[in-house]
Amino acid sequence: MKNRIVILGAGESGVGAAVLAKSKGFDVFVSDLGEISPKYKEALNRYQLKFEEKKHTEELILSADEVVKSPGIPDTAPIILKLKEKKIAVISEIEFAGRYSDAKMICITGSNGKTTTTMLLHHMLKKAGLNVGLAGNVGESLAWQVAEQNYTHYVIELSSFQLDGMYDFRANIAILLNITPDHLDRYDYKMENYINSKFRILQNMKSEDSFVFCTDDEIIRTELLNCDTLAQLLPFSVQEEKEMCGWIENELLKIQYNENLFSMDKKDLSLHGIHNVYNSLASGIAGNVLQIRKEVIRESLSDFQGVDHRLEKVVRVRGIQFINDSKATNINATWYALESMEEPIVWIVGGVDKGNDYAILADLVCEKVSGIVCLGVDNSKIHAAFDGKVNTIVDASSMKEAVSQAYQIAKKEEIVLLSPACASFDLFKNYEDRGNQFKEEVRNL
Ligand code: ADP
Repeated sequence: MKNRIVILGAGESGVGAAVLAKSKGFDVFVSDLGEISPKYKEALNRYQLKFEEKKHTEELILSADEVVKSPGIPDTAPIILKLKEKKIAVISEIEFAGRYSDAKMICITGSNGKTTTTMLLHHMLKKAGLNVGLAGNVGESLAWQVAEQNYTHYVIELSSFQLDGMYDFRANIAILLNITPDHLDRYDYKMENYINSKFRILQNMKSEDSFVFCTDDEIIRTELLNCDTLAQLLPFSVQEEKEMCGWIENELLKIQYNENLFSMDKKDLSLHGIHNVYNSLASGIAGNVLQIRKEVIRESLSDFQGVDHRLEKVVRVRGIQFINDSKATNINATWYALESMEEPIVWIVGGVDKGNDYAILADLVCEKVSGIVCLGVDNSKIHAAFDGKVNTIVDASSMKEAVSQAYQIAKKEEIVLLSPACASFDLFKNYEDRGNQFKEEVRNL
């Protein structure tokens, strides 16, 4: 008799886990407190999966042998607390899927740059002819692909929420890009809890596995001292050259793995900005570990098209370049956006503040920003930080208004940059909606 698995949340990861669980002969039940989208309802019916929506029926859920929880459901949700009280194991979809796959797992985490690096590496592995799937926060759920595809490699974007539900999963290559404060509301406002969550990526790694990490990040460096991983340590840096696996030397990007030395001109990288040098170094090291040919690595790093809503060039109007960085939902991402701009910036910022410390941006703003358009329901913190520091600072209550004001303020050869440093939920459905509205309003100019 097989066990009973309950899946909480019927989005991409939950439905994927349900499909895999059913294919392995489990008794599966899916429960979603919200309304299930038509796409996933159709899939649940097609696979003849039992499910409920807009409720959690406790007797059906608390009878589970194991529960797979979608990353969006916090640990403090009443149903999760009840499961914990009953000592029923709650795991993530990635943990569940990992049990049924022998593929090489290449996992990427960090506070910023996960999606970009994941997509870049996937692009490289595909170009190299590997049979590779894209999973985690991007692409299709890992579980669904494990059920229906026979990939030999997966490139997986792991958020801290996914890592929290992982116990026995083993990454063959793990990339840790950076750790800066984010999502602290889900970690009792304790940075150490968030850091511990990121470092879960290392658990279960063996001596033949590789840990690729940014050693310019002080938190990562410090934490690593307390960590006794078996994995090979492959550090990268743009500040240091010695003892690095990836570094910058005389404007060249260099990667050394075993005896193999790879080198390419930094200006040939298709993605701009120092943050993308980090992302490219990390991807290049992983490519070397996987023994991808140098020409393929070079080509991939120079022809990758980037990801929408991440420093995405929209259009140039009257000599003004509009750039959509709607995915910058925290201060750190916006810092890199401002840092990478070469012309004066009219900056559209604001939204739901996640405890931002704008002082971190003060020097860059004074140096590079000519005007600010605050786009949020509550802009008081932005005004407190920047009033008097830039020529113009105005408020907008819709994207239409924000774009029109930015267009009036910007001069020829300047940049209008949407890089909000905040979540989008006050005025938009999500960051994609915010970026799409920006692009539409810009194109209407
Ligand atoms: P994530 O998936 O971790 O949120 P993304 O690749 O979607 O990361 O990028 C999110 C934001 O962070 C974008 O504004 C992007 O320009 C910026 N960013 C990308 N890579 C990095 C990095 N290595 N360090 C800091 N910011 C980055």
